[in-house]
Amino acid sequence: MSRVYNFSAGPAMLPEEVLEQASEEMKDYHGSGMSVMEMSHRGRDFVSIAEEAEADLRELLSIPDNYKVLFLQGGASSQFSMVPLNLLRGKKTADYINTGYWSKKAIAEAKRYCDVNIVASGESTNFTSIPPRSEWSLNPEAAYVHYTPNETIGGVEFHDIPEVGDVPLVADMSSTILSRPIDVSRFGLIYAGAQKNIGPAGLTIVIIRDDLIGNALDFTPTMFNYETHVKANSMYNTPPTYAWYIAGLVFKWIKRMGGLERMAEINRRKAEKLYRVIDESDFYNNPVSKDCRSWMNVPFTLADPSLDEEFLKEANEAGLVSLKGHRSVGGMRASIYNAMPEEGVDALISFMKDFEKRRT
Ligand SMILES: *Cc1c(COP(=O)(O)O)cnc(C)c1O
Repeated sequence: MSRVYNFSAGPAMLPEEVLEQASEEMKDYHGSGMSVMEMSHRGRDFVSIAEEAEADLRELLSIPDNYKVLFLQGGASSQFSMVPLNLLRGKKTADYINTGYWSKKAIAEAKRYCDVNIVASGESTNFTSIPPRSEWSLNPEAAYVHYTPNETIGGVEFHDIPEVGDVPLVADMSSTILSRPIDVSRFGLIYAGAQKNIGPAGLTIVIIRDDLIGNALDFTPTMFNYETHVKANSMYNTPPTYAWYIAGLVFKWIKRMGGLERMAEINRRKAEKLYRVIDESDFYNNPVSKDCRSWMNVPFTLADPSLDEEFLKEANEAGLVSLKGHRSVGGMRASIYNAMPEEGVDALISFMKDFEKRRT
């Protein structure tokens, strides 16, 4: 059996070394005689897996001591409601930056709990750019400012952290976390579904500053209150144990790769060479402004969309799979997260050049 290069946006590719280690440990984890999947989450083996994963994540992201790290379920989508439920803290409005599909989902959910002030919106350019800071209308009284550092579908990414003064900054980092170093101290809260750049689906990571914990709205369900999970070290109920374990293996893999500085170097190079091929040809197109193109998700279209089917079919035959664009955008999308080896991007580029040559 041979592995393909899987360009899926999520669940996405995992490092082969991680899959190998998981398969070696599958039936008998370190002499315990059982799989991690079969262990009590409160037993010694799992507690040490959990603690080590957190320690490694803290090290990779240099997470300051005044932040808690939570390993939850419910996906990034549950965070769309957990954020307002916990962070409004008596305020009535929150600021949201609208850069596309996932921002809109977060905004729609927040509107159930508060007045949403749209600070800036990329709508007028069909979400192919981020409005310049000079046009933003931040509200200094807002409970928090929410944004989506990387729009997984539109392929729009912030390459620096917005300056928002003293209002806590909240980020949906689902598709960009661990792709580069970030200054966690600039944020009030960071959340990410694991299935893009961390591990298997079913795990959601939340990094929250201490002072934002403990002020949830009265009617907040117990499971939606960050305080519940902080007090119980993410073990108030049964956590997603196997996903947590795999995430831990991924953190160790990133450390062996050389950490986030090194990941950023590789990710930048992978993205730049792919955009270069798209830009140098009239056959392919990416509509996103050059200053905010995603390192992780590269959407592109063919000048002649009647060739889409053939492109996807032939790519598939060449072992380059899941390149179909999101249904809302069409065309193609290559998701090139940490686990996509540079050789995978090189193989895609060769295929694209060859396909173009044969069809023009
Ligand atoms: C995938 C994704 C989500 C949704 O994640 P779920 O875990 O499926 O809820 C939300 N935001 C962004 C930026 C994403 O990429």
